[in-house]
Amino acid sequence: MKIDQKLLFPGKPLCVKDEPCYRSVVLVGPPGVGKGTQGKLLSHIPGIFHLSSGDMFRQLDEESELGQLFHHYATHGEFVPDDITLKTWQTYIRSKIDEEAYHPETDLLVLDGIPRNIAQADLLFPHIDILKVLFMVCEDREVMFQRIRGRALKEHRRDDADELVARYRWDLYKRDTEPLIDYYPQELVRIIDADNIPAHVLHQILSVIVPIQKRCFSPPNI
Ligand code: ADP
Repeated sequence: MKIDQKLLFPGKPLCVKDEPCYRSVVLVGPPGVGKGTQGKLLSHIPGIFHLSSGDMFRQLDEESELGQLFHHYATHGEFVPDDITLKTWQTYIRSKIDEEAYHPETDLLVLDGIPRNIAQADLLFPHIDILKVLFMVCEDREVMFQRIRGRALKEHRRDDADELVARYRWDLYKRDTEPLIDYYPQELVRIIDADNIPAHVLHQILSVIVPIQKRCFSPPNI
């Protein structure tokens, strides 16, 4: 189905010709910072579609080629290669539109876990209209490792269960993901203090998202 861009985003610049351009807020943060918790909370709000790339990969059929590839990278704490990640993301988002779970014309897309590095940010650029980038910050590494240990037990995540892998993922975040903070125009970037109770973190995130929803989208159907 071809979507008329002008109908979707009146007055907005077009992204790639004949492709929908999803209006998005990007959530960035190291493993264990609480992105998943916040994403889950946000996904209950009408007019928000939360897309976690980790969940996207975990939903793959474990027996499929792609599922096995993901499993290989995730258990070693490595990122899935960028081109595969982007293709998977595009297929996934189209399926969510087809299922009518995500309505680009009325829903703010909250991207969680993607882009993961500058190469992915470049690849995504033509497809998304970034309205804000929220950096969740928690300087105390040990707090995050504690959370990861808790998550390993609760969610049976194999990549969390191995302490060495968890620490490697944190290093990878510092090396590849954190530089995104300087990649995006500074007026798009907001720092969220994640070393706090979930309700307080949510409060900070909503103080950014609510004005965007009001400004850019018509009222969601409740
Ligand atoms: P965490 O935030 O704890 O690292 P995620 O659930 O976001 O966990 O991701 C789990 C795994 O999924 C990652 O270790 C990686 O292998 C893969 N993954 C998720 N998002 C991406 C991405 N944008 N690019 C490449 N790999 C990804």
